[in-house]
Amino acid sequence: MYGPPSSHTFAHMENSPAKDLHFIEQIIEEDLKSGKHAAIHTRFPPEPNGHLHIGHAKAICLSFGMAEEYNGLANLRFDDTNPEKESQAYVDAIKKDVSWLGFKWNGGEYYTSDYFEQLYSFALKLIDMGAAYVDHQGPEDIASQKGTPTSPGSDSPYRERLAEENRALFEQMRAGDFPDGHCVLRAKIDMGHANMHMRDPIIYRIKRAHHQRTGNRWCIYPMYDFAHGQSDALEEITHSLCTLEFEVHRPLYDWFIEQLGIFSSRQIEFARLNLSYTIMSKRKLLTLVEQGVVDGWDDPRLPTISGLRRRGYTPESIRSFCNRIGIAKRENIIDVSLLEFSLRDHLNQTAHRTMAVLDPVKLVIVNYPEGNSEQLPSENNPEDESAGVRNLPFSRTLWMERDDFKLEANKKWFRLAPGKTVRLKSAYIVRYVDHVMDADGVLQEVHVEYFENSKSGSDVSGIKAKGTLHWVNAATAIDAEVRLYDRLFNDPAPDGHKDREFMDFLNPHSLEVRTGCKLEASLAEASAGVPYQFTRLGYFSLDAGYATEGRQVFNRAVTLRDGWKQG
Ligand code: ATP
Ligand code: MG
Repeated sequence: MYGPPSSHTFAHMENSPAKDLHFIEQIIEEDLKSGKHAAIHTRFPPEPNGHLHIGHAKAICLSFGMAEEYNGLANLRFDDTNPEKESQAYVDAIKKDVSWLGFKWNGGEYYTSDYFEQLYSFALKLIDMGAAYVDHQGPEDIASQKGTPTSPGSDSPYRERLAEENRALFEQMRAGDFPDGHCVLRAKIDMGHANMHMRDPIIYRIKRAHHQRTGNRWCIYPMYDFAHGQSDALEEITHSLCTLEFEVHRPLYDWFIEQLGIFSSRQIEFARLNLSYTIMSKRKLLTLVEQGVVDGWDDPRLPTISGLRRRGYTPESIRSFCNRIGIAKRENIIDVSLLEFSLRDHLNQTAHRTMAVLDPVKLVIVNYPEGNSEQLPSENNPEDESAGVRNLPFSRTLWMERDDFKLEANKKWFRLAPGKTVRLKSAYIVRYVDHVMDADGVLQEVHVEYFENSKSGSDVSGIKAKGTLHWVNAATAIDAEVRLYDRLFNDPAPDGHKDREFMDFLNPHSLEVRTGCKLEASLAEASAGVPYQFTRLGYFSLDAGYATEGRQVFNRAVTLRDGWKQG
């Protein structure tokens, strides 16, 4: 189930005929056709208590994508009802990530905290209707009366308080007359309801916490369940798209809307994205960051949007990944190889080809005149003619990859070894002459001779070379650090084990730092975030974080092929 899927599977998905509508598109099309709505209005409602991850990207692509597809509006709403865990820094990061993915909140930017006064009035309205009451019991008592899914709960002794009394108490709660946790406001629904969320849920609590937007103006805060549906109503969201865990909350949202007589949004639930070999819970991601297991929220090994960006993912590849996985009603686990495939697919079409040597060894062309050099044209992207051609400097001394040479090689070795002939990419065919090792037997230089009439593009040598090696001209090469990444966890479902912690499955080899790498000179001009293919090695881009320090660090986003093997 978790093994790398064959390219055949993906090729098939790619070429599938005109796509079928998924169930949410079907609902939207019906609502537009029947005239229920003239236009649709969606929202993406992150809580600013952490950074967005690839799972959120799925929700973003869906909510913003539906608005785009049907010429509707989409709001970005910060569900900021829990001030202790939220911050402006998260708000800013979320906006940056959504924009980077290529979406615009054309319906506007909203904050649940802007509705605090309105939500307070809604609560007063419920109180006056006899549909909410102040409860002075502690959390244990309230919990003990909740019942179980198969047995009803029991009523609070405060449940039958008069409306006037409840109103006065709630006003006192707001005025700060009571200490934190002294009492709560509960909706008065049904302690015997089959749905536990309908058993008189708490809707307001007293909490003296500084809110990043409302400061110390409030000492009572609405519970998420009392804010979410009403926020949708206030913004007249037509289709409120959310993940499956909210399905059981829907009757409660609908109940509030009906009691209050306000705009009724249609909530539609879809399965969240689960990805193999990673974790997505904000709490667990925070643990990795706080314990220094990774280098911040944007560590290239994390599934956060900022991590994927730093890793070298493109917004297009993330969007096409989200399209490929589709929208379903049932939870499943998507193989992380599909995400990698989406990136390769995009970069194969768009990334410029360059050459870099990660573990350099000198390659000396003994019959190439000392002091000579020439410029050899090389295509920037064979998939895209408009990408043009660049000139590669070539001379007697080059860098080659250490593991492209072997002292003893069999017939299947198409790289360099005694007796072997190879082509140097965009240059000449060369044949082994000899090599130099130091006293410890470590390879220092490989010597070859070149065939002058074998130049790429005008080869008349008639010599066959089965392998093609990448290389970099020594005199003009630039030095750089290159970082190679592997999966952060070595288990397909690191947080899916009952008896073990997700931290037990960390892959100790998830980061490999290579220093002293040699890159072709054109990469001195690389900008952070612009992906390049390093011939034979994968797709890389300059790390924005180090670029500001003037350090050249390139991250590998993905290899050229799915070489990952289990176990
Ligand atoms: P928490 O882990 O604290 O519950 P969350 O991941 O649900 O947080 P929110 O900020 O509440 O974070 O998420 C915003 C929206 O993103 C929600 O509507 C949620 O349904 C959706 N979302 C979150 N995780 C996923 C996921 N893995 N796949 C698809 N959508 C997701
Ligand atoms: Mg949530």
